[in-house]
Amino acid sequence: MDLFARELLLPRNVARSLHIDDGLSASAIALKLGAPFEVVAQQLFDALLMPPVPSAKAAPHVERPLNPLQAAAAAHRGDAYLLEAGPGSGKTQTLIARVEGLLEEGIDPRRILLLTFSNKAAGEMAERIARKRPEAAAAMWIGTFHAFGLDIIHRFHAELGLPRDPRLMDRTEAVELLEEEFPRLRLLHYRNLYDPTQIIADMLAAISRAKDEVVDAATYAALADAMVAKAESPEARELAERAGEVACVYAAYERLKRNAHCVDFGDLVALPVQLLEADAAIRTTLEAQHDHVLVDEYQDVNRSSVRLLRALRPDGLHLWVVGDANQSIYRFRGASSFNMSRFGKEDFSSGKRGRLKRNYRSVPEIVAAFSGFATTMGAAGADSGLEADRKGKGEQPELRTVARAEQQQVALADAIDELHRQGYSYRDQAVLCTGNERLATIGQDLERLGVPVLFLGSLFERPEVKDLLALLSVLVDRRAMGLVRIACWPEFMASFGDVAAIFEHLRAVEQTPGSWLQSIESIPGLSDAGRLAFGRLAVALSGLDQTTAPWTALAMLLLDRTRIAASLGKSEDLADRTRGIAIWQFLNFIRVQPAGRGLPIRRLLDRVRRLVRLGDDRDLRQLPAAAQHLDAVRLMTIHGAKGLEFGAVHLPGLNSDTIPRIPPPPPCPAPDGMIAGADGSALESFRAGQAEEQECLFYVAQSRARDRLILFAPTEKTNGHNRPLSPFLDRLGTTLVRRSVAPERALPVAEEARTIELVIEGRLRFGAPQIALYESCPRRFFYTHVLQVGGRRTATSFMHLHEAVRSVVEAVIASDVPVTERDLEDRTDAALAGEGLADHGYHTEFRDLALTMLRFFLSSRTRAVAEAPIALSLNFGGEEIIVQPDEVLVRPDGTRAVRRIRTGHLRSAETKDVGAAALIMAVGKAFPGAVVELVHLSDREVHPLSLSGRELEGRKDKLARFLGDIRAGQFPAEISSRTCPNCPAFFICGPTPDGPLQKKFA
Ligand code: SF4
Repeated sequence: MDLFARELLLPRNVARSLHIDDGLSASAIALKLGAPFEVVAQQLFDALLMPPVPSAKAAPHVERPLNPLQAAAAAHRGDAYLLEAGPGSGKTQTLIARVEGLLEEGIDPRRILLLTFSNKAAGEMAERIARKRPEAAAAMWIGTFHAFGLDIIHRFHAELGLPRDPRLMDRTEAVELLEEEFPRLRLLHYRNLYDPTQIIADMLAAISRAKDEVVDAATYAALADAMVAKAESPEARELAERAGEVACVYAAYERLKRNAHCVDFGDLVALPVQLLEADAAIRTTLEAQHDHVLVDEYQDVNRSSVRLLRALRPDGLHLWVVGDANQSIYRFRGASSFNMSRFGKEDFSSGKRGRLKRNYRSVPEIVAAFSGFATTMGAAGADSGLEADRKGKGEQPELRTVARAEQQQVALADAIDELHRQGYSYRDQAVLCTGNERLATIGQDLERLGVPVLFLGSLFERPEVKDLLALLSVLVDRRAMGLVRIACWPEFMASFGDVAAIFEHLRAVEQTPGSWLQSIESIPGLSDAGRLAFGRLAVALSGLDQTTAPWTALAMLLLDRTRIAASLGKSEDLADRTRGIAIWQFLNFIRVQPAGRGLPIRRLLDRVRRLVRLGDDRDLRQLPAAAQHLDAVRLMTIHGAKGLEFGAVHLPGLNSDTIPRIPPPPPCPAPDGMIAGADGSALESFRAGQAEEQECLFYVAQSRARDRLILFAPTEKTNGHNRPLSPFLDRLGTTLVRRSVAPERALPVAEEARTIELVIEGRLRFGAPQIALYESCPRRFFYTHVLQVGGRRTATSFMHLHEAVRSVVEAVIASDVPVTERDLEDRTDAALAGEGLADHGYHTEFRDLALTMLRFFLSSRTRAVAEAPIALSLNFGGEEIIVQPDEVLVRPDGTRAVRRIRTGHLRSAETKDVGAAALIMAVGKAFPGAVVELVHLSDREVHPLSLSGRELEGRKDKLARFLGDIRAGQFPAEISSRTCPNCPAFFICGPTPDGPLQKKFA
């Protein structure tokens, strides 16, 4: 049922009153009104979780008259025209004036095409034209390049060999499709036999980049071949071979996508370009339909967009584009100031140019700062400065330095409060950063410092959404690890001891997920309070199980079984408002899940991990329009702030390690010759492009500010050494006032960083890999080895393959008799069958891979005599670390090799971490003169392991310190968007219940 019909059946204010004032649950309201539960629940969620929109009318939009440069640009007719328009110079107003002029001249609005890059910009353009000429706006084609391309695909689907309405395949689905195909592709450089998700995503990014350049799979392969032919060094040959492997994946992907009757995002422009360039009749048809083509944000176009424009307006007649090369910040999708520089030359050769020179947005002090910076930038160059139209206020941009990083957020909070006292509302202040991860930390810190912030960040990593995911996980997880989070909810609050008692009980008994909730009375070790808390949880989850649809389960929990939604709906607190919005967004996301195999909750959890891992959850970070009026500081990435303006802008992190920051080169570099206009190798052009983009980011960030611009930077590293400031600051010259500040308050400790009250009986005793886990993430160590709920995330077919190989390796090591090829094959077949891979569609490929790994393993121990591996022990002040080698071989020359066998690939940290150091130390003590080896079967490589005396001493100190920190209950989280989605504790990581946790390790 759509929104309109729902509102007719049950207006939101009525739903809200029935639930909050009358205390009726969603089910009770549904029964009372005879309405479906889903409809009532949806109305209640809208009414309770979304902030009410104030009824005050928006102030009328007042437009100033065009200045002479704007008027001349709007009046231009004939040849192609590029208007270079810096921030706040009135570019949209000029574009709209041109449209109005065309309409006044009698141009049929259906013959006007307006293109831009983002839906947001397209919506704003449509809205502003509609304000003046509503009928004309409805008749024009206004939208993004991709929407326009999709329109062409729909119209000419037969010529493109596509169904009438092809489905849009997103990256997550594409990765899944290629994962299935991966074993057959037999890649050498890009093979990842353990978990190919990331490398496939990287290759898809390379393919998407190729589509930006309208380079298809065959052309990609030809470019790779040309590189092979030219390669004169092993490095050049490897680069060429890598490009060839991407070409192979590209071809496979295109085939699979077509078989699924799908197109992808890159196809939306690339396919129409190929069609128009190849088919003169279609080109003529489309060319004749639009007399006037206008493009906003021309600095964001990539080559495929330019080629689309060239196909539509080959001679450039009546093509009018506006952009600002200094704001070119979409390199990753192929946009570059290169396209601006070609305009009127290689592209649309008869094209003319104009430039707007007046900034109407910012005070002169701020215009002077970013304009001065602009004249030193590589993108638009020396004459791209602007003059301010506004009168000065006397407030120059400021740099506030603090000593240490954690003081920066306090200085930021102080500055926000200071400006608030001066009359700047919170909503008219913005904190801008380059990345979302950094922004999330700043947002949490500001909240703890009492500053109201509006920021969703990564939806699935927000505490209230994690709470719901943890709750759902209890319905599918036999060990109920989500309890560690749920026991922190006020509704089900329980002590750590009670949670541990449930975990212990579940370790001992085999039960279906959630069934323990029916027998709480018989679980040993629970306190009375614990039984009551889990009893309430049992009531809240009664009737729900692993087959329940996630949305239904949460709707019942939030609206029928608890008053959680009601209390959020009643709250005036801004943090509660943001929580409500996040939950609303999450519920909307889970309402309709793609079809697939397996249990719905399990599928949802797997999908969430994958979305976060691939960064495909970005759309869910957008705040709904209803949130825009809330009086809270806006936290945004610089990309997200483009096109917006604020009274005050705060820019933290102005250090040389933050901006400019050149990211690592793409894992799958483009083949030479693919990127139009690139000088030198793909790598060189990547670096040059990134350097230019960093300047553009800084420029965009500064130019969002109307009245106040405050920059922040710490000057010391954690070790007390000097932390250099960003070199961009010197380029602001005297336009920037510098002062150091010393905040008076301290940053409050985050809830999840609290020390855990561990009561340890006896000494600590851990294996070397366990302590290595503490080094990579102490929090993960805590879940896995203290709470013992780490477990595993859902195993993929590849993981089953590795399990099978591992079991054969263990059997071979344990066996005294030599293994023949026949034995090996039989054991492999049995192990694969044991892992459920016997009937897999790629059984043959999996078997080949397994046998390749195992044959390598056997070859690596040829002619050596195996000794029974024994556990070795290291003592650290009474605590113990156990080292268990996988095998010990004595080679024909008498050398003893103590080996650790891994089926996967070598990780970069593995040869240097404390686990490796413990192995070396223990072997050195037990077998003087022995060598230590790491064997990685996926790499088919044996790495001798060694550390210098100094390195070993350093690791020894670390091991002692880690053991001390474990005893002291220190388990800080090492949050990383790359590793966390793979962590078994991903859905539960965060706060822990109160109370001591008793533990015995030895
Ligand atoms: S989710 Fe991330 S931070 Fe939390 S335990 Fe796992 S790896 Fe550590």
